[in-house]
Amino acid sequence: MGKKKDTRLNHTGRDPHANFGIVNPPIYHASTILYPTLEEMEKAAGHPHTGVYYGRWGTPTSFALEEAMAELEGGDKGIATCSGLAAIAGALLSCLQAGDHLLMVDNVYAPSRRLCDGLLKRFGVETTYYDPMIGGGIKDLIQPNTKVVFTESPGSLTFEVPDIPALADAAHSADCLVMLDNTWSAGYFFQPFEHGVDISIQAITKYVSGHSDIMMGSIVTPEKLYERIKKQVAGLGYSAAPDDCYLALRGLRTLGPRLRQHQETGLKLARWLQQRAEVKTVLHPAQPDCPGHDIWKRDFTGASGLFSMIIDETPKEALAAMLDGFELFGMGYSWGGYESLMIPSDPAQIRTATPWPGTGTLLRLHAGLEDADDLIADLEAGFERLNAMR
Ligand SMILES: *Cc1c(COP(=O)(O)O)cnc(C)c1O
Repeated sequence: MGKKKDTRLNHTGRDPHANFGIVNPPIYHASTILYPTLEEMEKAAGHPHTGVYYGRWGTPTSFALEEAMAELEGGDKGIATCSGLAAIAGALLSCLQAGDHLLMVDNVYAPSRRLCDGLLKRFGVETTYYDPMIGGGIKDLIQPNTKVVFTESPGSLTFEVPDIPALADAAHSADCLVMLDNTWSAGYFFQPFEHGVDISIQAITKYVSGHSDIMMGSIVTPEKLYERIKKQVAGLGYSAAPDDCYLALRGLRTLGPRLRQHQETGLKLARWLQQRAEVKTVLHPAQPDCPGHDIWKRDFTGASGLFSMIIDETPKEALAAMLDGFELFGMGYSWGGYESLMIPSDPAQIRTATPWPGTGTLLRLHAGLEDADDLIADLEAGFERLNAMR
């Protein structure tokens, strides 16, 4: 078609003239699907992943969102799930079995790590964590039973940007699948399939939804992996609710303009913070201090609004004075909505392959859609409260 991304995201996953001219696709609520004949019922049962079969396998509402997610990430097929974590679990459980080995990036989203160390381990899958900056060196960690190399770009909390094409080259020469958690870029600023990724996952909960009110995830796969993953995801019961699919699709229509604003405000905050005496480092992929910044420049077309800063080691009371007193920055874990956020975090608690140096206090920020100057004033007042306590 050759149309630009924003144009494609505007038109994908809807067909007004098949729906009374109504712009948005309708919400179908369904559990039971009725079949007119025994023959059609038996036919549907043979191919549950190809149409409307049973509520858990999807409805035209989830199919519309899945089509749009595939368009967004540039893959063949989308699979909607009830949370981002369900998408991660569904993808891993589709491609691993007892006796297999998984290579997992060390700065992965913490619940993904708990999945590896808990459920996957109990079911006989072994995980080795790797340095996010390992690049082609990953080949030395690949074992005969390695089946999946999982990565996240940039990684949670610390924002290192891995060299995905180098990881993918090594993985593919050993017949391993490459999975990516693409939540940070929302699939908008990074095209996974052009960089060697086989399966792209994201938490729709974050930017695609964009309004902090739904939990959903997606898996985008090539045609050849679709049936296996769709059957596993439906078999686990990880289906997405129709109202949530509708809201996710509505969020997707404004994803581009929202992300460009998150990017602009995030960069403005990052540059302002960089100048502050209290700030040791800003970990923002579009800033030169961030490990993997050159890879971000090579592979990404933009930056979303989530990044971290490291300030001098700060006692809890001073941190509380800063965080409790913010007018605009909220404290909360999920992100990608219109509101700005800040939370403290300690990556040293989470890492195993690459010990975190642990000098200073890490704060993760989300640049929301408020006016950037108002956010800067809020930050400035926060630093004053902090300094008054030191
Ligand atoms: C939030 C998040 C998830 C999990 O998404 P949920 O919808 O909250 O389950 C997965 N990966 C990353 C990087 C996230 O930030």
